[in-house]
Amino acid sequence: MMGRMYRFALSVLIAGILSVALPASATAETRILACEPEWAAIAREIGGSDVVVHSATHARQDAHYIRARPGLIAQIRRADILFCSGADLEAGWLPVLLKRGARLVVQHGQPGNIMASDYVRMLEVPDNLDRSHGHVHPAGNPHVHLDPENIGILARILTERLVLIDPDNADGYHSRHADFTARWDKARATWRSRAEKLQGMKVIVHHTSWPYLLQWIGLDRVIALEVLPGVSPTASHLAQVLDRVSSSDADAILLTPFDPRDAAEWVSARSGVPVVELPFTVGGREGVDDLFSLFDVTLELLEGARG
Ligand SMILES: [Zn+2]
Repeated sequence: MMGRMYRFALSVLIAGILSVALPASATAETRILACEPEWAAIAREIGGSDVVVHSATHARQDAHYIRARPGLIAQIRRADILFCSGADLEAGWLPVLLKRGARLVVQHGQPGNIMASDYVRMLEVPDNLDRSHGHVHPAGNPHVHLDPENIGILARILTERLVLIDPDNADGYHSRHADFTARWDKARATWRSRAEKLQGMKVIVHHTSWPYLLQWIGLDRVIALEVLPGVSPTASHLAQVLDRVSSSDADAILLTPFDPRDAAEWVSARSGVPVVELPFTVGGREGVDDLFSLFDVTLELLEGARG
């Protein structure tokens, strides 16, 4: 009896000493919950082995429409950093997650809360009277990641926050950021010269998933298949699309991996304009397993469509 009590007391004592001696960062990595795969990819580049990264969505899911399922609630309760697009892309589920046990550090205005659209120049920002951007983009277009400059900006923001939240590993975050930036700037220079050859190419889109990519390269959007962002194509709208296509010589109909294909294929069959599915984010196509291959493959597919 005494022996058992003694061993119990000893184990409590040892646990106490260990918890005092080891700071949190030495016993557990910083946990990052990304809302979309592109932000998870930045987190892996900058965080390396000092972080555990989880993405709330994968490349075949539309982040506008996922649900706040229990697995995500469990993830957000443990997160030290929440890294999302913002601008209401996650309006249907992120507010629910934040109320279900998320820690103070990831709430709005706290260092562990990063909403990418707060740090970049937003496109398609509606004025008060303009409803043309639909109910899913009320704060401007939230799909900000397909401009390499925006990726660079967010890599720097994430580095700053990691250093604040986990100062013990600051050296690692700074050196991985410097390494990433060097590789990214080099890739950007190559992409720039490829993008110049694509300028003026005309594309039809399903949803307005692409304005940052289109602006970066210099592509023209002829029309969207959705009536408004988040409003599915109708027969009368598709008839208008066909009219527009016949007078515009469009080069491609762009789809994400999660867009429905029926409207695009209907227009393609009647116009001869090819459907081109771009990866849209990391994981959106075989071989697209980081941010570098995302932009490489996107340009390659557009070059193929240009012919
Ligand atoms: Zn959208």
